[in-house]
Amino acid sequence: MSYVGRFAPSPSGPLHFGSLVAALGSYFQAKSQLGQWLVRIEDLDPPREMPGAASLILKAIEAYGLEWDGEVVYQSQRHHLYQQQIDQWLASGQAYLCQCTRKQIKAAGDFYLGTCRDKELTNRSECSVRLRMDHPVSSFIDLKHGEMTIPEALSREDFIIKRRDGLYAYNLAVVIDDIDQGVTEVVRGADLIEPTGRQISLYKTLNQAPVSYLHLPLAMDINGNKLSKQNHATAIDPNTPKPTLIKAMQFLGFKLPKDIADGRIDEIIHWGTKNWHIEQLPQQIEITPRFSNDAL
Ligand code: GLU
Repeated sequence: MSYVGRFAPSPSGPLHFGSLVAALGSYFQAKSQLGQWLVRIEDLDPPREMPGAASLILKAIEAYGLEWDGEVVYQSQRHHLYQQQIDQWLASGQAYLCQCTRKQIKAAGDFYLGTCRDKELTNRSECSVRLRMDHPVSSFIDLKHGEMTIPEALSREDFIIKRRDGLYAYNLAVVIDDIDQGVTEVVRGADLIEPTGRQISLYKTLNQAPVSYLHLPLAMDINGNKLSKQNHATAIDPNTPKPTLIKAMQFLGFKLPKDIADGRIDEIIHWGTKNWHIEQLPQQIEITPRFSNDAL
């Protein structure tokens, strides 16, 4: 089977150092196996998005020498696929409507106890949709970190696949898209280790063989927070990409020879593809890069 990987940024802001690390890691892992590398914009949650961020992200990916295969896919154009699956599950009883508010769930210990499982609610406009959890997944194998365990309670929860406000849940969209696009392996930041259990449950519910997973170390800021668009991580500079590209590759465990580091962007990326090995990745899951400068 030929390799298909992807980079799936949410356009909540421009590309920052942490998302560049995910882009590079997924690219090298795909290209070192002569695979395809797809880009999917995960614009599922308009209130969290920044106008123009998707095109800034794509421009930055290009400036850093990464070429994607095929057309860029936008989740905002795929609602019909998500809804079709939800309708099918509602009809079969695999999913059900739930009227519990976040406040009620918080009051019950921040865990959804299946309150609406057998209520047979019908008013879609006032309810979220939950998946009946028939395939709890409490661990999985990560290509770098080996067996990762997921808290038992979390793995058993009937989780939300469509929110009360009508937005589709990330876990559902990501799995439907990865299946639809033929993705064979998911390489992304270690902040997404926990949802992986739910995503594998979705593969099982859909009767599909799960993909393999590789979680890359997370870049943290000096206060111990994940670099993220929500934390206003500084955008990487698309005009002078080389210094940040080299830092991001060092973060991924590369030791670049001087003549390569002195070369052009495309030469650096080509060298990275040839020299990429999972073993070189640092073992830690969270890392604060030693340079706390504007690149972050
Ligand atoms: N859209 C997610 C994010 O930007 C990543 C999804 C994934 O790689 O599975 O955090």
